[in-house]
Amino acid sequence: MLRRAVLLVLWVGGVRCPLGYGRGVSELPLARAVVDRAAVLRTDAVWLAGALADPATRVVLVRDGSVLTTGTGGGPDVDPWAEVEPDVALAVLDPVSAVALAGAAGDGAWLFLGRDGAAWFALRVPGAGAPPLVGVSSDVLVHARSEQAADGTGPPGAVWTSLRAVGAVLSARDAGLATTAVALDHWHRRHPRCPRCGGPTDATAGGWARVCRADGSEHYPRTDPSVIVAVVDEDDRLLLGHAAAWRPGRYSTLAGFVEAGEPAEAAVRREVAEETGVVVAEVEYVASQPWPFPGSLMLGFRARAQGVPPRPDGTELTDARWFTRVGLAAAVAAGDVVPPGRTSIARALVEDWFGGPLPPVGSARDLGDGQPCDGCDLVDRQPEA
Ligand SMILES: [Zn+2]
Repeated sequence: MLRRAVLLVLWVGGVRCPLGYGRGVSELPLARAVVDRAAVLRTDAVWLAGALADPATRVVLVRDGSVLTTGTGGGPDVDPWAEVEPDVALAVLDPVSAVALAGAAGDGAWLFLGRDGAAWFALRVPGAGAPPLVGVSSDVLVHARSEQAADGTGPPGAVWTSLRAVGAVLSARDAGLATTAVALDHWHRRHPRCPRCGGPTDATAGGWARVCRADGSEHYPRTDPSVIVAVVDEDDRLLLGHAAAWRPGRYSTLAGFVEAGEPAEAAVRREVAEETGVVVAEVEYVASQPWPFPGSLMLGFRARAQGVPPRPDGTELTDARWFTRVGLAAAVAAGDVVPPGRTSIARALVEDWFGGPLPPVGSARDLGDGQPCDGCDLVDRQPEA
């Protein structure tokens, strides 16, 4: 209790908590890739063909932002904003089993993801008319969690799960593979034709390029830079907004696409001003992570601004507020505010400012009642002052 009182004094005083500050941004969920991309092999058609004929090659399945997963808690209905944490891993198959599940592998279906001893590929599964993979027999999942079936903790088989929903709980290896697979899959889906002549194109280079049949021009996967920013005022309050398209209660840091010919720092100032009327002073780059839904690279920033009342634009944002740490913790604990999902860089920026993990949504019973704050790790990690 004494420690919490000390912490609250620190918060109210607007002093940044030194413990954990900045640590959360160093390991962004979708920026943890560990498998060598082995880019030099993408154009080696003989090597690629040999790898796909090798039963030791490992394949993951990707479809429209989702990946096939094993474990518990995955599935198409997992909400990226939900606080529950599924226990899932990528379903990893050999090439023959992957084709058996996904159907014939046509043009651009194979995506070479890299190599870490064995080769890694993703197999793209068509979004429409795809076979229902829920309930697939576990014997085709060469790396399914054997302990799962053995101890009965979950059903065998695999399900499609949104990467947005489970990016933070996948292993670094799986998160990196899935992020690349989803990004490439989205690019192929959205760019089937030549941007020069409109003609059809064919995938090449292990799925890392498309070539126009008419003029031979080569085209490469697009990445669209976006900025996302934790704006704080002179009292160290954090500016969060509620987007018009979101369910009630959801708040996040402000974000927007970088426009043509625009530096990222200018995009930060423009987006914040357009959406809230707040004029940003200093802008500081923090970290980035890919956000392949469908093709963004999120560039994370911190910024300072005067704490004037925000004026949400009413179009993109229908509400914007300055939060103190105590206020945000209380609002989250009360269930009045739902913070951004754990896979997002927004969550990392918010918790970086907060100084540690936010309390669980709706855990108000654990705050202010004199009992240990379940989930308020920040409190427990404070040194005795
Ligand atoms: Zn063309």
